[in-house]
Amino acid sequence: MTHLTLQAVTKRFNAAYAVDSVDLSVPDGKLVCFLGPSGCGKTTLLRMIAGLETPSSGSINFAGRNITHLPANQRDFGMVFQSLALFPHMTVAQNVAYPLKLRKTAKDAQARRVAELLELIQLPHMANRPVTQLSGGQRQRVAIARAIASQPKLLLLDEPLSALDAKLREAMQVEIRLLQQRLGITTIMVTHDQREAMTMADEIVVMEKGRIAQVGKPLDIYRDPVSEFVADFIGLGNILPVTYDGAGAVSLPGGRRIAVAQPARVPSSSSDIRLLIRPEDVCVKLASDNAGQNRLAGTVTFIRDVGASLEATIDCTGFTLTAATTPRETPGLTLGMPVLAELPPHACKLIAARAAH
Ligand code: ATP
Repeated sequence: MTHLTLQAVTKRFNAAYAVDSVDLSVPDGKLVCFLGPSGCGKTTLLRMIAGLETPSSGSINFAGRNITHLPANQRDFGMVFQSLALFPHMTVAQNVAYPLKLRKTAKDAQARRVAELLELIQLPHMANRPVTQLSGGQRQRVAIARAIASQPKLLLLDEPLSALDAKLREAMQVEIRLLQQRLGITTIMVTHDQREAMTMADEIVVMEKGRIAQVGKPLDIYRDPVSEFVADFIGLGNILPVTYDGAGAVSLPGGRRIAVAQPARVPSSSSDIRLLIRPEDVCVKLASDNAGQNRLAGTVTFIRDVGASLEATIDCTGFTLTAATTPRETPGLTLGMPVLAELPPHACKLIAARAAH
């Protein structure tokens, strides 16, 4: 069942479009991430869903009801912002109980719900501690417990993890995702971190300049991006300008031709085509191997070996490729070494070039 639908939602600030005609359906119980670079309109879109910003035009429906102009405090949505906005003079339990107090929930029911939530976030022993004496990750969990205390129908998270260091951030991503799945609460999260979105989301909405560039499951977007912008924003990629001959082959910079899988969507103009191949799809072979189809001669110019994975930059004269492999798969790789980079045709995707500015 679709829970939340947006139709042609637009927000202008003076003459500038922060969000431009967004259509979107968010299914029940899913976690959807709004992902995109700074200024693409993610927060403005979330704030309109929250009721903190009024659309210039378009409509927002939730559970079959038009809520476009419904005040934020009547929407029954839980929210967590980047700043968390916990009350510093209150304890953990008082913070979590706050929304219940606002709703005049009976004292004993409040106490039961707070105890249940503190169990859920694994902080039952910290109920009476002032929130100022918690670590970043603990504060994060309290903010989430407070946001879900009154069993909101929708949870809205705006970059909730951005203040945390990398390791804690990754741990919290898993924690929030597991919690969201356990509760089955429909959740929308804003992030500019593609890895975070890939880790947590059922669906990613990639935004570019106020518009939706692509919506889909994380791996579908990673494997089949619709444009150079999306390909570049989601994960590492080798993106090369090519010319397509219309029959399963492209010419690379420098003129070498290689085979590609027949594209599902052939970009409209042959001069605006890019070839995308992800680093993990580039196979590094010894130069003494047979030259052969889609094997390009090159020289290793950089190696990033972090133990579990290895990334090699290969200069192929006219363009460079990044190959992701492991030290075990490619032992003995050294700087300056001549190699063959194999680009399997099925992994070569053709996409439309980014529009010129
Ligand atoms: P970030 O990741 O940096 O938070 P974002 O994708 O969330 O960016 P928004 O905050 O939604 O982007 O902003 C989208 C555009 O709207 C930006 O150009 C921003 O400057 C503009 N904007 C946002 N809020 C206002 C406002 N209250 N008044 C005028 N312009 C605004």
